[in-house]
Amino acid sequence: MDLELAGKVAIVTGGGRGIGRAIVAALAAEGATVAIVDRDNVDRAEALAAELGQAAAFRADVSRSDDVAAMVEAVTQRFGKVDILVNNAGTLSRKSIIEDSYEDWDRVLRTNLYGCYHCARAVAPAMIARGTGRIVNISSIHGRVAKAAMGSYCTSKAAIDMFTKQLAVELAPHGVTVNAVAPGTISTEINLPLYKSTAPADVALQQATLKKVPMGRIGEPEDIGRAVAFLASGKTPYITGAILYVDGGYIAEGTPRL
Ligand code: NDP
Repeated sequence: MDLELAGKVAIVTGGGRGIGRAIVAALAAEGATVAIVDRDNVDRAEALAAELGQAAAFRADVSRSDDVAAMVEAVTQRFGKVDILVNNAGTLSRKSIIEDSYEDWDRVLRTNLYGCYHCARAVAPAMIARGTGRIVNISSIHGRVAKAAMGSYCTSKAAIDMFTKQLAVELAPHGVTVNAVAPGTISTEINLPLYKSTAPADVALQQATLKKVPMGRIGEPEDIGRAVAFLASGKTPYITGAILYVDGGYIAEGTPRL
């Protein structure tokens, strides 16, 4: 199926590695020109851009509105427009709500939630003026299901789900769709040390996690890339305010099998 992405310009935040990298690759493979945004590791984004051809690297810390405004301006100057925004950049703190420091709580909320807010505010006016656009936010199954010792992260992802629905309602009359992709556990640098480990405690944790996934495996970044390309495509103008779980059935089952 032609996703009608040729000639489109996409911004992908946190696009230099992990899930973001797979989203960049999926959009580029469908013919989109991609602005790969990273915070500190612009070299990494530049290397990916050189590999793909139809792409360029940009720097921004999404937790800072001034950085984001400058980045969107630079992308617009370079490519003439922004058709697609993918809010993928994310971070976490592995602490409970009461144990988390104010600094970590602030870092997670500012990156995950405010990052989406800053980027959406920066691109939306031009999308509204043109009467078309696609915004895809990367949420998580943990926007819906709480997880011990991930208080700020789960809170931020739940807020992203409502932010997605609210913005979808506000932008629907302007032809701009806003959706979220909510991944389950995905094989990225955050999780690989655990999933490659043979230490008994880690193996027990791997097995406990996999028991919650009806498909019995963790997902690949490409699973998320394809879902984002679908929601960013010209073929999905009537899907808005949706949260698409890409999780091997985790949310559908809910209770782990014994
Ligand atoms: P990674 O940590 O591998 O990649 C995150 C990317 O975001 C990195 O490039 C990172 O850059 C960038 N980033 C972090 N903070 C900022 C910031 N303030 N401004 C700009 N860029 C920033 O994570 P994943 O690929 O695993 O996750 C990507 C998204 O998917 C996140 O939103 C995450 O919450 C979500 N997700 C991941 C799941 C998983 O199992 N992996 C499951 C569910 C959701 P840097 O290297 O400089 O830190």
